[in-house]
Amino acid sequence: MKVEKITESHFKGLINVAQLLKEPVGSSRKYDIRQIGNEQAESSIEGELTLVRSGQGILVRGQLAIKVGLVCSRCLNVFPSSVNLNIEEDFLATTDVFDGLPLASCEESPNSTIDSNHMLDVGEAIRQYTLLNLPVKPLCRPDCAGIKEMD
Ligand SMILES: [Zn+2]
Repeated sequence: MKVEKITESHFKGLINVAQLLKEPVGSSRKYDIRQIGNEQAESSIEGELTLVRSGQGILVRGQLAIKVGLVCSRCLNVFPSSVNLNIEEDFLATTDVFDGLPLASCEESPNSTIDSNHMLDVGEAIRQYTLLNLPVKPLCRPDCAGIKEMD
């Protein structure tokens, strides 16, 4: 997958966490990222996420390796690369899983949230972590000579 696909489009990583929200704090579940990603992600992302029931929602933790096409900062060629992500992200519940009522405390929260259908979308978190972990000046190889002068 090219970087643009991650940075500009929304990677879908929806997980239904209704059942986990009903369990006691500390309960956890493991997911292979390939089970929750879309078709496009299957060959591009590897790793496992652990979802832990926290006091106010779900804590998502895990290590992912994502394959991306980077643009060399010297020669501008696109080359395949791999970025490792250490994800640790809190998702706040916005709706009470038992009575379906909105939880007032979550309004204007800067945190990631779980929607009213108890779907947690790790796609946005993965997108942001990927952006944070991309090299500032990628090189296709350490001794890349760059673009030759035209004249
Ligand atoms: Zn290069």
